[in-house]
Order: sequence, then C-alpha cells, then structure tokens
Amino acid sequence: MMLTNEEFRKQAHQLVDWMADYLGEVDRFPVKSQVAPGDIKNQIPLETPVESNGMDEIFDDFKKIILPGITHWQSPKFHAYFPANSSYPSVLGEMLTAALGVQGMIWDTSPAAAELEERVLQWLQKLCGLPDAWHGVIQDTASTATLVSVLTAREKHSGFKTNTTGMKHAPLYRVYCSSEAHSSIEKAVKIAGLGAENVVKIAVDKDMAMQPSALAAAIMADKKEGYLPLAVVVALGTTGTVAMDPLKEIAPVCKQYGVWLHVDAAYAGSAFVLEEYRHLLEGVTDADTYVFNPHKWLFTNFDCTAYYVKDKEALIRTFEIMPEYLKTGSGSAVNNYRDWGIQLGRRFRALKLWFVLRNFGAEGLRTTLRNHIKMAQWVEGQIEAHQAFELVQQRSLNALVFRYHPKGITDEEEINRANRQLLERLNQSGKIYLTHTKVRGMYVIRMIIGQTYVTQAHVEESWQSIAKEVEN
Ligand SMILES: *Cc1c(COP(=O)(O)O)cnc(C)c1O
Repeated sequence: MMLTNEEFRKQAHQLVDWMADYLGEVDRFPVKSQVAPGDIKNQIPLETPVESNGMDEIFDDFKKIILPGITHWQSPKFHAYFPANSSYPSVLGEMLTAALGVQGMIWDTSPAAAELEERVLQWLQKLCGLPDAWHGVIQDTASTATLVSVLTAREKHSGFKTNTTGMKHAPLYRVYCSSEAHSSIEKAVKIAGLGAENVVKIAVDKDMAMQPSALAAAIMADKKEGYLPLAVVVALGTTGTVAMDPLKEIAPVCKQYGVWLHVDAAYAGSAFVLEEYRHLLEGVTDADTYVFNPHKWLFTNFDCTAYYVKDKEALIRTFEIMPEYLKTGSGSAVNNYRDWGIQLGRRFRALKLWFVLRNFGAEGLRTTLRNHIKMAQWVEGQIEAHQAFELVQQRSLNALVFRYHPKGITDEEEINRANRQLLERLNQSGKIYLTHTKVRGMYVIRMIIGQTYVTQAHVEESWQSIAKEVEN
C-alpha cells in the first residue's frame, strides 16, 4: 500500500525508535561489513516491483539485506580513514531537512536556507579564528571546494576570459602541493583543464610537511622555463598522517610570486575550534580560499563542507549564470548560492549544522574535541610502552601512525607484510576498523579517535583488540 500521511506518521515513529536503538548499540555490530562482493546485489531483484510493497516488508528487507552490508561508520570502534561523524542533533536536523525537501538554489527558493547558511558559516568562522573579512558557503565536499578554488584562480588570472575562450590562449599553469597532499588536488587540476602533469609535488620534511624552500625553488625553476605558477595548496592536516604544512612560511612565498593560496584543512580544520592549535593558522590571512569539513570531525552528517573565500566577487564571476527563469527582484541584497559553486540545486545543509552548533555549544565542541585528543594521547602512551609496536610519526591531534615491529625482525618487507596481515585480521574480526598508509616506504597503521560518542572504555577495548592480536 502506498503510504498515506497517517501511515507515514506511524512508520516514522517506528523508524525513530529503531534509529535510537541502533545508535545506542552501534558498538555491538561488526565494525567493517563482513560480506563478499555480490552478496548484497544478489539478494536484490533485477527490476522495480510492479505492485506497491508495504513499508513493513521494505523495512524487513532493510534489516535482512542491507544492514549486513553496512560498515558502521558511527561505531565508537571505527578508527579507519577519517571519521564521517554524525550526532543526535545532526540526525534530527537531517530529518527535518528531508521533510522540508527544500531546493535552495537561490534566495527566493527558501530565504531561510540562504540566510541561515550565511549566519552559521559566520559562527564557524569566529569559532575557528578565521579572518573576519572572509565569506563562507557550504559545498558538498572538500574535493568540490578545491575544484572551485582552482577554477576561481584560473578565471581571476585570465581576467575571467578562460570561461569564454577555453584554454587556447592560456599560459602553461602550474599548481603546487606537497607529495603528501590529497588526491583531490590532482583531480581538480585535471577537471580545470590544466593537465595533471602540471601538478608539482613538493618534497616534505621528516614530519611529512611541505618544505617552503623547495616550494620557492620549484616556482623559480618553473618561471625560468616559461610556466606560470598559478596556485599553491597548503595542507593543514594531510590525509596520511595529519601532517601540517608550515602555512606561516609558505604564505610569504605565495605573496612574493603572486600565487593564489588555497588551504586544505579538510580534516584538521575542526581542531581550530581549540585555541591551542591556532598557531598552525598563522599566515592564513594571506590565503585566498580555505576549506574544512564539519562532516569529518565536527559531528555533522556527511555532507557538509565549509568553504571560505577572500574575494567573493571573483568566486561569483567564475560561476555566475543568468538564464531568464532565474532572474529575480531580490538582487544584490541577498546571496544566491547557485553562483558560489558548481551545482545549481542545493540541499538545505545549514540546518543540521545549526542544530549541532547550538546543541553542543562552543564549550561542548571544545570538550569533545579535547577528549578525543586526550584519548589519542593515552593510546600513544600504550604504543610507546609496548615492545612490539612503534610510533612511526609523532602524534598529530587525534591521529596515531604506528606499526607492529616484532622483536628480531629487521627485513623491512617482512615487517610490512606482518603489518598488512595484522590489519586484515583485525578488520575481519569485526571488533575494530583501522586503515593504513605508507610512510617512507613503510606500511603503517593509522588509528583515528574522533567518533562523536567514543569513550575511554571503547578506546581501551580497541587497544586491547590490537595488542591481543599480536600476542600469540
Ligand atoms: C578527506 C580529505 C579531502 C577530501 O574530502 P571530501 O570532502 O571527501 O572531498 C581532501 N583533503 C584532505 C586533507 C582530506 O583529509
């Protein structure tokens, strides 16, 4: 039976009960889905049902077919990748967003969506110590924000001509980032038509952070060869090891050569809610654009990326379109966010962010973030004290990069293999989920402690799972 309003109400109440139960005991599920390729697909018919299926039947199938194929990202034993954490206020915000079903492409299509977005991004800006003069907008992901930044840099440099003429008169642009920078930078450069081979990867130091002198040398060498240094992307928190590029030293290099500066703080940007990490932001006033993801470590459901720009006009001139049916009388008194990025249609994402910021409060955010970092410190101590494990990189925020190093084994390949196998066994156990990265050729394990509701007890249990696995 197709749902009526009355049935919807009944079903919705049941689902909310299920959601509360699920989130209350999410730590009991195997963290990483244990299914094999095809397991889920093979249980789903090849075609749409002809007759209506009732909600009870659909929901039974959700539990029977879909849940086993879910990796439980909200589990407090999820320490893989970076978190994509949510929280109770965020889920409630998402529910209302779904019910309102707003498409906020322009101010007129929902003034509240546009104006709340403007306001909560100002809140975040203040909360993180970002420059007052910047303008914020929500993008779907950091990848999109970085693409928007590269496109804006390209347009601004060309006097906004490339949008019209294409690349035929364009110089040979170069974009610089460290060898540890996120793959989204190369992707952005490819899509922007600059050519992936024009991404120049700058060497890193022992902390995996970009070397400013190597950057300056690369820019000078490129200029000599007729290239045009267009943009530098600084990583505040690389994806592999959460390394911090020295923004303070890189910003003057960009200034000296007139190069666009984009800061990718996708993960670690949340940490700037904490005053004690603000020194890493030194030099940020010289940045042209800045991105961070509240959908990673600020308790807001994916997707929600905060993107800030110094030059709002340049952004809008890059993306503005004006078909007749989108012309309104509201003019420049309002923000029409369809001109602030790639997509025309936009979800009302500010609502969940507003719920989160209000329900946590600045103090609640700080306490939760500091707690995560404290728990990571505890694990750091365990690693240091354990004779079969070693820290490979200094702890950065709540990220641990370490490896298993059994006594007596010196062959690097053998150690790498042992770590790969350890990781596989742990992830297959369902007790914990971890991922790996490579550091100077070493296969190393990453453990991130950033789940919204993770507790010291969970972390101790997770560490026990790891330590026990190497005992026998
Ligand atoms: C996660 C991450 C990204 C990509 O984020 P999306 O929002 O998934 O596009 C980019 N840069 C860094 C440093 C990241 O950690």
